Amino acid sequence: MSKSLAFGRTHMAIPGPSVMPDRVLQAMHRAAPNIYEGELIEHSESLYRDLNLIARNSGEVVIYIGNGHAAWEASLVNLLSRGDQVLALVTGRFGRGWVAIAEGLGLDVQVLDFGAEQSADPAQIEAALQADTEHKIKAVITVQTDTATSITNNIPAIREVMTSADHPAMLMVDCIASFACERFDMDAWGVDVMITASQKGLMTPPGIALVFIQDTVWPRHKEADLKTPYWDWHSRVYPAYFAARFCGTPPTHHLYGLREALDMLLEEGMENVWHRHHVQAAAVWAAVDAWAQSGALTFNVALVSDRSLAVTTIKTRDGLASNLRAWCEKETGLTLGVGLSLAPDGGTTDSNVFRIGHMGHLNPHSLLGTLGCVEMGLMALGVDVSVSGVASAMKVIERKSA
Ligand SMILES: *Cc1c(COP(=O)(O)O)cnc(C)c1O
Repeated sequence: MSKSLAFGRTHMAIPGPSVMPDRVLQAMHRAAPNIYEGELIEHSESLYRDLNLIARNSGEVVIYIGNGHAAWEASLVNLLSRGDQVLALVTGRFGRGWVAIAEGLGLDVQVLDFGAEQSADPAQIEAALQADTEHKIKAVITVQTDTATSITNNIPAIREVMTSADHPAMLMVDCIASFACERFDMDAWGVDVMITASQKGLMTPPGIALVFIQDTVWPRHKEADLKTPYWDWHSRVYPAYFAARFCGTPPTHHLYGLREALDMLLEEGMENVWHRHHVQAAAVWAAVDAWAQSGALTFNVALVSDRSLAVTTIKTRDGLASNLRAWCEKETGLTLGVGLSLAPDGGTTDSNVFRIGHMGHLNPHSLLGTLGCVEMGLMALGVDVSVSGVASAMKVIERKSA
């Protein structure tokens, strides 16, 4: 084979960490600030305000130095006690990841597993809650988007059955893959706790975990016996001094990066951000639909309303997914997402699954570049691409209708 043309800046189309905008990188490229007084302190206060604006949360937000796993643990330890029952809705590997943390903390987890191809069924959730006549279940935990399967769950529908079952459990939602990509409305949807992290829709390097809480959960916080000093929300929400917000040194440069990312989102406007993700997701689906006509690949999630706006999981045969990822990386500088096993107890990667991340800092030229490289890779690997996925995606983007 002749020399690769992949040269210069590479492109990540994986579902996190996502592409970091130059504005975010430049905001972080600066001297260390004074962490005791001055600009950093005012600047941090504005982060809490704007994060809540984006999440549509009238409660509080806690910023941790941590990743998504940190947010999983923080949300549970602040509100639950050893032995408490939790109902976990599982639609893929990330739902199961939260279960593993909960079990590790000594919680009694009841898992409702909906498989790897469709969203959580509200009727089954309602039945499970109605069966809990003594209200032993203290929390329902679910992802909005499961990043492995690319399934999106209907959060308002889940809250609706919790209300109709007249069950007092808290609703805790993992929006790590979906925050600032898919519509989310914490107050209106009745979500008690929402968690996310910096490295996906928020376009900031990995390192910040966020927990959004409604004021209604404070009585539960008081009772929770899993709390430990580092994770405890109370001292962070009501800090005795600035650094207590972070239980120590703040993640200074991440805060500058996050500030810039929030500015970018608010300048665009959240309705536009969500619309952009919707159109771009629809463009990816149009491309996959076209490529699927070859018979070489297929969607993991058949039903459009169950699909994520941030990531698309694609199934292939005969190791095509692995070969395609390798070809794109070597020949074009494009990195596609690995397949995380879709089988409940499978291994970590699957050579017949790949994922296209379409979250965060993405626009028509970067998305069409990604899809063009994938299409070229399919051709190079002998797939009959007689219907162009790129042409189909272009039509969706040109009409801007999702
Ligand atoms: C990425 C992700 C996580 C894990 O985040 P880490 O930062 O890798 O710990 C958890 N849940 C969802 C839905 C995710 O997309």
